[in-house]
Amino acid sequence: MSFEKIGLIKPLLDAISELGYTEPTVIQERAIGLVLAKKDIFATAQTGTGKTAAFMLPIIQRLRDNKPLAPKAVRVIVMTPTRELAMQIEEETKKYAKYMDLSIALLVGGKSLESQEKRLQDGIDILIATPGRLREHIIKKSIVLEALEIFVVDEADRMLDMGFVTDIRLIHAELPRRHQTLLFSATYTDKVRKLSRLILKKPEFIETAKQNKTVEAINQQIYLVDADRKAQLLSFLIGSRNFQQVLVFTKTKKSADILVEELKLDGLKAEVIHGEKTLAQRNKTLTKFKKKELNVLVATDIASRGIDIEQLPQVINYELPSVAEDYVHRIGRTGRAGHDGEAITLLDINDKEQMKVIERLIHVKIPRSEIKGFEVDITKKADQDDLKPKRPKKAPLKQTHVKKGTGKSVQKKIAAAPKKAPTQKKRKTTKRDGR
Ligand code: ADP
Ligand code: MG
Repeated sequence: MSFEKIGLIKPLLDAISELGYTEPTVIQERAIGLVLAKKDIFATAQTGTGKTAAFMLPIIQRLRDNKPLAPKAVRVIVMTPTRELAMQIEEETKKYAKYMDLSIALLVGGKSLESQEKRLQDGIDILIATPGRLREHIIKKSIVLEALEIFVVDEADRMLDMGFVTDIRLIHAELPRRHQTLLFSATYTDKVRKLSRLILKKPEFIETAKQNKTVEAINQQIYLVDADRKAQLLSFLIGSRNFQQVLVFTKTKKSADILVEELKLDGLKAEVIHGEKTLAQRNKTLTKFKKKELNVLVATDIASRGIDIEQLPQVINYELPSVAEDYVHRIGRTGRAGHDGEAITLLDINDKEQMKVIERLIHVKIPRSEIKGFEVDITKKADQDDLKPKRPKKAPLKQTHVKKGTGKSVQKKIAAAPKKAPTQKKRKTTKRDGR
């Protein structure tokens, strides 16, 4: 299917062909026609599948009548969780609307309310906003929503994880009765489902991502390691396996900064992107990474949202995300478009419970192993039961029986345990996931 066949008009076709889009992605192929037909949509599609164009191209087409705008009126609102994402959407929208005469504006925190009010005064065709700031302007009555035609909730799952549910509800309550709502989400969670019931009317469902299933082409691995040796292990893996372009996730900005310094000390070309870097800094880093001038990019979850890098061979979870769904987003950056990818988690005892939560979410038990020379110190971590089968206290496991270094050894150890704890049983049944 081509963009032409989907029914896009010439000014849009010209704009996207200049951007090098030759064919629509799956989500675009399925969503564009429905948006043009004024349907409400509930779409789930993984990160990087082209959701922005899936809603924005038909939206722009819908606005081609160039209706005059009443003061403070807005025709379309696109709501997205972070400032950075909003800026990216604005940028893309401007490119798509290059040959159309539309007013496009950004409404995010960090700018003065007054300057934004001024901008809103003459009316806006497409407003791209983060929830908090949008709500402020609605309360201040600097926006008139009566003529709103389309309301887009982008990255709904993320928005809910970030605690924006009340803002979304309040904004939704202010919208006129007749409008079209488009809900996009990378994952299909209960929270998103609940929101969809609240804000959508007879929606069309587009599901291109299976429910919290991670892409099959991704080889997921867990390496058990002591917390204080993680950075060393990471350097070792990158060096010994000759990783050329690896994305490493940390939970916090602070640990991202610390890690990147350690990697640099090990002679690796590494840089960090997180929320405290400016957009310009992040883009510069990203460009270097894409050109492989950098081999390691250390990122936090929020900063990584919207990063677009084709087919990364490796993603490493240096620390697990506190929101389990983020694991899916993280590893979705590898194994794209049919290419094999590898997602490695360096798991220390502190993240053990969270790992289980993630595995329950994705319905996969990921094989665990250790890297020779970085084995978990059992004497130090007496309760590291991923390694040490539960035994009566009087009969401690003799270390001499334990062969380390492969996933199989873990299985063996379990098999050798006299009493099998339920968690261990579970592990056995998931042998099929082992690779
Ligand atoms: P998502 O929101 O699903 O994570 P984006 O909308 O940010 O994905 O798109 C990811 C990248 O793919 C962007 O750089 C975008 O310009 C590009 N892109 C979108 N649609 C196409 C297409 N049909 N052909 C080629 N590139 C595309
Ligand atoms: Mg997006």
